[in-house]
Amino acid sequence: MRLCFFGPPGAGKGTQAQRIVERLSVPQISTGDLLRHHRKAGTPLGLTAQGFMERGLLVPDDLVIAMVAERLGQADAAGGFILDGFPRTVPQAEALDALLSARGQEIERVLFLDVADGEIVRRIVGRRSCGSCGTIFHVEFSPPAVADRCDRCGGELTRRSDDSEDKVRTRLAEYHSSTAPVGGHYASKGVVRRIHGLGSIEEVCDRLWAALSA
Ligand code: AMP
Repeated sequence: MRLCFFGPPGAGKGTQAQRIVERLSVPQISTGDLLRHHRKAGTPLGLTAQGFMERGLLVPDDLVIAMVAERLGQADAAGGFILDGFPRTVPQAEALDALLSARGQEIERVLFLDVADGEIVRRIVGRRSCGSCGTIFHVEFSPPAVADRCDRCGGELTRRSDDSEDKVRTRLAEYHSSTAPVGGHYASKGVVRRIHGLGSIEEVCDRLWAALSA
């Protein structure tokens, strides 16, 4: 299975990808997570990406494409993967197509999680994630059993620095101008499945699973 999770920031791509990888034995490849690891490790890529991410802007295509190419070349991605947050521009989609085509592969499904902008802002400002294992919570919709502690590993839950309301609005503007056209790129290949993104995490997961099984 070679899948992409597509949709606006905060639509639930990361949360749902975490659930789907538990059922399919393929890795979840989140470009946001990879870039945050680079920032934490202080690599040259992390230092360059930091300024863009802090402002809610997209990291330049050439940097992200090289990072993804390197990740897709690792052994665990040979049998399939779930891309989460990539491609986010048409040039990224074209580079991904070329990379896969050289391996005789292609993206089989693009799962488009559709959520309106007003709901996105509400979701993102309440989002918290575990600094140790990456599990995602929401203060209102999926709160942890103990405040600010991860149910899975006990790690501390924090809000991402780019999850403030002003930065969410910048990220949404980036989504509409640069990322939404990626949907058209894959629609022409007939692989996009639109999933209504409102409802409980379980309800949305069931819809995704039905779209994948069809
Ligand atoms: P995410 O965790 O997917 O919301 O991504 C967080 C931030 O990382 C984004 O706001 C961008 O600054 C950057 N980022 C993640 N994925 C990409 C990508 N495919 N292209 C460019 N920038 C990205």
